[in-house]
Amino acid sequence: TAKYSEGNTYKIYHRDMRERLKERVNLSIMLHIALENKEYFIVYQPLVDVRKNQIIGAEALLRWNSPHKGVISPGAFIPLLEESGLIVGVGEWVLREVCRQNKLWQDEGLMPMVISVNVSPIQFEREDFVDRVKEVLKETKLKAKYLQLEITEGIAMQNTADQLKKLHELRNMGVKIAIDDFGTGYSSLSYFKEFPVSSLKIDQSFVQDILKEGNDKAIISAIISMGHNLGLLTTAEGVETEEQLEFIKEQGCDNVQGYLFSKPITSEDFEKLIKYGKAIKPAILPMKS
Ligand code: C2E
Ligand code: MG
Ligand code: MG
Ligand code: MG
Repeated sequence: TAKYSEGNTYKIYHRDMRERLKERVNLSIMLHIALENKEYFIVYQPLVDVRKNQIIGAEALLRWNSPHKGVISPGAFIPLLEESGLIVGVGEWVLREVCRQNKLWQDEGLMPMVISVNVSPIQFEREDFVDRVKEVLKETKLKAKYLQLEITEGIAMQNTADQLKKLHELRNMGVKIAIDDFGTGYSSLSYFKEFPVSSLKIDQSFVQDILKEGNDKAIISAIISMGHNLGLLTTAEGVETEEQLEFIKEQGCDNVQGYLFSKPITSEDFEKLIKYGKAIKPAILPMKS
């Protein structure tokens, strides 16, 4: 029976692999036409100033509305876009779309908001990356100070002369830089002294485990105080409960993003949220303090 079940397991595993490969190939093919077919859209997740209890901006997050599968989250398709290089075009589309939208909001007299855009390492490594950003800002007439780019700790750590130069150019233009998912890489904080970065986004894995046993509380408070000593803003991602918010506040964290305040929402809903406060459904703005 041992043999039988081994063979069986092998077959199931094998079939599963084939299915998954097929799925990947199918997704890749569909992704090639998704941009042209206007299947991508952007959702916005509010960024909240903890002390003022006020929305100060948002993070733009990509979604794919596949005609075959419905709305798909980026975790499932960004790696494929990166492998095929399609991320360069899609990333630039996201950047342009966000800047265009933010400019409309600024013109409407909504409060001045910084909207954050995620940048893939594949995009950032392109020689013309800074020029593309410059071009999009010029085209959309958005002031650079209303744009924040989120790069991963990985990019930051490469620390090659080229990458540093790009970051300095962006910073000199007035674009803000945030380090995303901070704490999951292996960079030392002192390193950011040399780095033209304006904020650290603490990875949500630390925030979500705050109330469990372990070192997550210590890690969070260390990141916040060291970040502040280096003159950086800190943002906590993935805040879902009042307890987590309470702890984050106690530690003096500047900004918060998470389901407790709002899930990522469409541009229309985000606009309503800004205009009418808690008068819309998906937002649960705690009205304390
Ligand atoms: P990220 O940049 O770290 O974005 C935060 C992710 O956490 C988002 O997932 C957001 O929906 C989720 N999140 C926010 N608050 C909570 C919470 O309270 N609880 C939980 N469980 N999750 C929360 P999403 O939208 O699925 O995006 C996943 C990742 O995909 C992003 O992580 C980012 O790395 C990447 N991504 C998204 N949009 C883009 C894009 O336009 N370009 C690139 N290159 N990457 C993107
Ligand atoms: Mg991000
Ligand atoms: Mg993040
Ligand atoms: Mg992430």
